[in-house]
Amino acid sequence: MIDAPPAVTAAIAAAFGAAAGSFLNVCIYRLPIGTSIVWPASACPHCRREIEWFENIPIVSYLVLRGRCGTCRQPIGLRYPIIEAITAAMFAAAWWLYGPSILLVSRLIFGCALIVLFMIDLEHHLLPNVITLPLIVVGFVLSFFTEPGWVDSLIGVVVGGGSLLLMFYAYLVVRKKEGLGMGDPKMLAMIGAFLGWKMTIVALMFASFAGSLFGMTMMATRRGGLESMLPFGCFLAVGAAVAATIGPDLVQWYVSLW
Ligand SMILES: [Zn+2]
Repeated sequence: MIDAPPAVTAAIAAAFGAAAGSFLNVCIYRLPIGTSIVWPASACPHCRREIEWFENIPIVSYLVLRGRCGTCRQPIGLRYPIIEAITAAMFAAAWWLYGPSILLVSRLIFGCALIVLFMIDLEHHLLPNVITLPLIVVGFVLSFFTEPGWVDSLIGVVVGGGSLLLMFYAYLVVRKKEGLGMGDPKMLAMIGAFLGWKMTIVALMFASFAGSLFGMTMMATRRGGLESMLPFGCFLAVGAAVAATIGPDLVQWYVSLW
């Protein structure tokens, strides 16, 4: 497989990614409502009929069924094929960037977690512990075999979790209410475990910058008040993806400005 032309291996990686994306859809749908992610089989949310294997081929089935359930003809959310396509693109990009390596495995697990956390936070304003806490451990264990190394990873967990925890309490003291969810520090600790402390700071800075920019744009265009804001976990997910891929280049560019 490794000797095959790059376009072929990238296509194979994308196919694996689409299948993984299909599983991520199940996690996004089921984790917040606390049902098992392996049982029962997927069913149409409208008529409850179980979905057949041939209706469950990522992206393809959606197109063949023209976005509707085969039985009750109720529309299937466009988010399902979109998540599958994004995960497919992520797998192909990661394969191209890292090749066959432990770093590839680490980045794919990390990327999948970010996609799930982004969607669940967007929809439920929630960053489930069942994702963030085990993945802090997974990221740290993987760091013994690949980037960023276990020392960087450990500092990343402490700096990532600690910085947002401090902000959480500072906000609580000053404003007498919770500005961040308690899920955010755990998510940033997870980012720290996978990316190390330097890229965690990059991710946090990017997320804060993008979040403020988005917030100001929304207010300037009067698209609703604070409740229409995107949750911070969404910005953290994007910031982490940016830091994981072009983080070091960003830092170099920033330093060269001075
Ligand atoms: Zn149906």
